[in-house]
Amino acid sequence: MPANPPSARRADGVPDDAQRRFDDLLAHLPAGVVMHDGAGRVVAANRQALALLGRTEYEAREAPGGGDAWHFVRADGSQMPPSEYPVNAVLRTGAKVSDLVVGVSRPAHGDVRWAICNAYPERDERGAIHRVVVCFTDCTALKDAEQSLHKSEERMRLALQGSTDAPWDWDLVTGELYYSPRWWEMLGYVPGEQAADPEAWVRLTHPEDRISVVAFLDELLPGPRQAYSMEFRLRHRDGHYVPVLSRGYILRDGAGKALRLSGTNTDLTERKQAERRIHELAYFDQLTGLPNRRFLLEELSQILARNSRAGRHGALLFLDLDNFKLLNDTMGHDVGDLLLREVARRLRRALREGDHLARLGGDEFVIVLENLGATPAEATAEVQAVGRKVLEVLGEPFELAGRQCASSPSIGATLFDGHPTDIDALLRQADLAMYRAKDEGRNTLRFFDPGMQAAVDRQAALSAALRTGLARRQFVLYFQPQFGHDGSLVGAEALVRWKRGTDELVGPGEFIGAAESGGLISALGMDVLEQGCHALARWARAPHLATLKLAVNVSVHQLRDPDFPHAVATLLAATGAGADRLTLELTESVFARNPDDLVDRMLQLRGLGVHFALDDFGTGYSSLAYLARFPLAALKIDRSFVQDVDHDPNASSIVEAIIALARKLHLATIAEGVELDAQHAFLAAHGCDVMQGYLLGRPVAMDEFERRYGRAQAQAASGSST
Ligand code: C2E
Ligand code: CA
Ligand code: CA
Repeated sequence: MPANPPSARRADGVPDDAQRRFDDLLAHLPAGVVMHDGAGRVVAANRQALALLGRTEYEAREAPGGGDAWHFVRADGSQMPPSEYPVNAVLRTGAKVSDLVVGVSRPAHGDVRWAICNAYPERDERGAIHRVVVCFTDCTALKDAEQSLHKSEERMRLALQGSTDAPWDWDLVTGELYYSPRWWEMLGYVPGEQAADPEAWVRLTHPEDRISVVAFLDELLPGPRQAYSMEFRLRHRDGHYVPVLSRGYILRDGAGKALRLSGTNTDLTERKQAERRIHELAYFDQLTGLPNRRFLLEELSQILARNSRAGRHGALLFLDLDNFKLLNDTMGHDVGDLLLREVARRLRRALREGDHLARLGGDEFVIVLENLGATPAEATAEVQAVGRKVLEVLGEPFELAGRQCASSPSIGATLFDGHPTDIDALLRQADLAMYRAKDEGRNTLRFFDPGMQAAVDRQAALSAALRTGLARRQFVLYFQPQFGHDGSLVGAEALVRWKRGTDELVGPGEFIGAAESGGLISALGMDVLEQGCHALARWARAPHLATLKLAVNVSVHQLRDPDFPHAVATLLAATGAGADRLTLELTESVFARNPDDLVDRMLQLRGLGVHFALDDFGTGYSSLAYLARFPLAALKIDRSFVQDVDHDPNASSIVEAIIALARKLHLATIAEGVELDAQHAFLAAHGCDVMQGYLLGRPVAMDEFERRYGRAQAQAASGSST
């Protein structure tokens, strides 16, 4: 329905030409125009106005002037009272209304349209308002856009509130730089406290980072990238630096020119701390704070590359504390830890700035020296000097938990030069040299030489041969007789021999060590015990051998096996040997570790009837505490004392003391290595119970022993009875 244009008409009511054109214009104007009379009633409205109001012209005209018929809304969304309606405002005040934003609620359409209103009065000759013209432009689309912008801004604000990210925005065209409040808060400032200086971030960037950040931007802006991320540090108000991750987008024009840079800074403080902690855990030993094995291996590969470029010598030193395990077992792990910490501290102090120190674990440390002399001889001399220093600082007594302790290291060293070297090989070489240092009396430094590698290779070959030897039953027993103070045969010691070839007989000194380190000693030991038990069982049936005791040597490794007592019991039962004829000879070294477990095991064996003798007495740990603690039957005075007893007052005093001590503890004494009459006489005079040695009888093959002593006894017995 075409709207009746609000217009003046000629007196005859027919519009003239100008009037028609004006009406036409109003009808097509993209703005609404409504005319009201002096009472506020609608007298005319153009098409746009009716569309916006959602009324027909008739409905508009019939609507009461007071305004109940309309539902207008203010810009903020609240209900607009009729007094504020543009027409009423003009009527009431007589003034025009400019650019008022009004929402027209249209119940029939169920929506709200928004309009910008202008209204003005028309007055008659007397000055009274007889007409009010209200014009409005639909701005619904604008209002919607504003609203959604507002919402998205709010969303953004809320999202950022929940995160630690601090937004900023840099207009590269105007140079304007916006820092969000959060940006300032991250650095300890109250927003607005600092002038919004575009250069602020440059000023606050860590001096060490500034050049690289500026260089980064110089490359980023002309380049093609749309997004970037980088880390740098900004100075906090307190003066410390906050590590930040800056991420942003670059807005470019069609030609790729950067117009705007906008992004967020994220505070990395916590993340950095976590990273540092993880790094520490992964690369440092928690006990001493020294770099750990992983750190060392990574560093070594760099060191080797560096030294090969420079063509210089370097050295790797492998350091192991002597008797650390003993200290740990006897004084407790806490004291062991204290020692390790103190060793680390002393080493760090003894070394130069550029030397590397790491703890591999346990009581093992590694030192890497770089830039040593150009010739191997010079480098060796320098390593020896460092070694001396280390031995000196670690040789000083330690005060641990209020007690004085002594410790010493064994050090193995190996040189590396300009040639590419395998790290594992270097560590192995230094390790071998360290074992050589241990073998050669400890508390010393030894260099790796290729002969050590050859020795290791020989050892491996020996282990393989031992294995075959065991399978082929090539191990046989020799027996050495033992005599009481009256000269009567009381027993024998079983000594193993390896019949390697048809007439080659290898002594235990050449293979017991290899069997122990090669894990074969238990199998070998059981073989020996089995042959010994068979001998005892046989002797029991031979009248002149029936009362003899047999001593069998037992390695510390055998006694560490919890199944050992059970295995012995099984053997005794299977062979029918009398347990109380069997003596196991132990050396003091078995007492070095876990003495409680050991006492348990010995008591189980005692329960079977087996006896124990302590071999090589006087040469070991010299702690007398275990003599009372362990169920021993006899002490074997070491050969070294016996051999000097006739000419060295020291040795004779020691032997006297051992015999006296044994008597106090109700232990028998056995002297081994008796070679001379003078020795025999001294021992007999001082009351040694049993004697063994070349003077009285060499070790002989088993059948030879049985033939000789079975008959000798018989002859002696029959001789004395006649
Ligand atoms: P050991 O237990 O101290 O054995 C005594 C060693 O001294 C034997 O050497 C013996 O032949 C030697 N000997 C005996 N009387 C004299 C003497 O008057 N003068 C001198 N100079 N030496 C004498 P062997 O048989 O070579 O045994 C060496 C070591 O091998 C033994 O020392 C023992 O520790 C070990 N061994 C021998 N047999 C076995 C075994 O079956 N098992 C284990 N685990 N070790 C064994
Ligand atoms: Ca022995
Ligand atoms: Ca011995």
